[in-house]
Amino acid sequence: MSTATLTQTGTKGHFTNGQAWIPAQENLIEVHSPLDGTLLGAVPVGTPSTIDQVVENASTAFKSWSKTPLKERVQVLFRFKTLLEKHLTELADLIQLENGKTWPEAKAEIDKGIEVLEFATSLPQIWDDQILEVSSGVNCQYERYPIGVVLSIAPFNFPAMVPMWTIPIAIGCGNAFILKPSELVPLTAVRLGELFSEAGLPPGVFNVVHGQRETTEYLIDHPGIQALSFVGSTKVARLVYQRASSLGKKALALGGAKNHLVVVPDADPEITAKNVIASAMGCAGQRCMAASVLILVGDTGNILDQIIAEARKIRVGEELGAVISPAAKTRIEGYIDRAEAAGYKILVDGRGANVAGKENGTYVGPTLIEGVPAGAECACDEIFGPVLSIIQVNTLDEAIAIENSNPYGNAASIYTTSGAVARYFSERASSGMVGVNIGVPVPREPFSFGGWNDSKFGHGDITGMDGVRFWTKLKKITTKWTASAAQNWMS
Ligand code: NAD
Repeated sequence: MSTATLTQTGTKGHFTNGQAWIPAQENLIEVHSPLDGTLLGAVPVGTPSTIDQVVENASTAFKSWSKTPLKERVQVLFRFKTLLEKHLTELADLIQLENGKTWPEAKAEIDKGIEVLEFATSLPQIWDDQILEVSSGVNCQYERYPIGVVLSIAPFNFPAMVPMWTIPIAIGCGNAFILKPSELVPLTAVRLGELFSEAGLPPGVFNVVHGQRETTEYLIDHPGIQALSFVGSTKVARLVYQRASSLGKKALALGGAKNHLVVVPDADPEITAKNVIASAMGCAGQRCMAASVLILVGDTGNILDQIIAEARKIRVGEELGAVISPAAKTRIEGYIDRAEAAGYKILVDGRGANVAGKENGTYVGPTLIEGVPAGAECACDEIFGPVLSIIQVNTLDEAIAIENSNPYGNAASIYTTSGAVARYFSERASSGMVGVNIGVPVPREPFSFGGWNDSKFGHGDITGMDGVRFWTKLKKITTKWTASAAQNWMS
């Protein structure tokens, strides 16, 4: 936490037409801080009439925003970037308060959001309209158009970063945008809206609607919304993708994960140990890119000793934040209980973690479970907490077979000092993002973010040029503009 004072934010509204809006008739959802259970504030639950109004505001804004030249649109993004940097401490405080992660982790997610924003400010330079003389006097041309009013549905684990995967690119491309943040972390989203207004974004271009399942479903079904992205659990990602696609809408839904880290005997013990623990325990394991299964190949005993030592060093409440809710703590500890009951060894036990003075906080300490068979519950389910299940195998091919057989496909990493082993693994891992000696292999922009298999439904990735392709549609224009009446096959 920075030096800023913890204060209750009070009730925050939806955000539309450049300002907060709390419709009188709507129920409120309370927002509690996982750090210590404090009530931070509340947000309204969006009802159909509110959503209809927000979509209408966005549609009206779209008419002029989509016609605003791209070079002018990105000027707003430049100003927004300056404001994010100016308010970085305040934003990181807010993210930490509502999400429970550590302050450096909260700051890091704004940094990553700014990276996507920087990519979006380069849209005029990378815009890939193309023109070619395809026949004598005849040109074919691509023109890229915004889609209309678009929706982005976000999870709890990154209140700023995940929304920022989509906002700058979609808005930069000329769309009007509605964000449906997680009801668990809705406050940062509203602050982003305020900063957009300060940056001079025309009213109605960026909107926030709060709510849970019913609100989200009404938004997905709304005929005024043409395309949507979703980031969250696989179960909901699949449902949202099917629902949107069945309505003929363009959809991209990123789901959950179960990421495997493979360690071979030639790995550097110190680099590996620190990196494995950072991957598994960072953001309290609540990252879709977090390591969840560690596969040790052959004799790596010395490396495991260092991994255990690294896990034991972590100070809960300082270097390891809270998990999102009491329900999440109970769920995560349940996985550890059942692993223990199944006879696996709890090498480091994070159950019952408490932080002095924050007794109502929801903390789980670092947990390492050894002797786990590949088919065990803790080796297969997405636990989404600071828990690493350790599987021992004899060969790299066995490790790859385990990684390949998991239904998800976000990330997989190998730790080795051999280029040949690294390449062998990278070519065979069944994941969209692969790390070599990197446990959280998030590609830096302009390389795009996106998994495979049950970690993503839809085509393309969510950032980079794929983001531009997703939030636009192409028109193909064929033009004959010649002084002669000569015929050719294009005439
Ligand atoms: P979640 O699926 O519970 O919720 C995500 C969003 O969907 C929220 O805004 C929620 O209000 C809404 N929602 C919930 N149920 C819904 C329903 N039935 N219909 C429509 N909308 C619904 O996810 P979460 O718990 O907030 O986030 C954690 C999950 O997100 C983890 O599984 C994690 O792996 C995943 N995640 C994935 C990525 C990725 O890039 N693949 C990134 C971040 C998080």
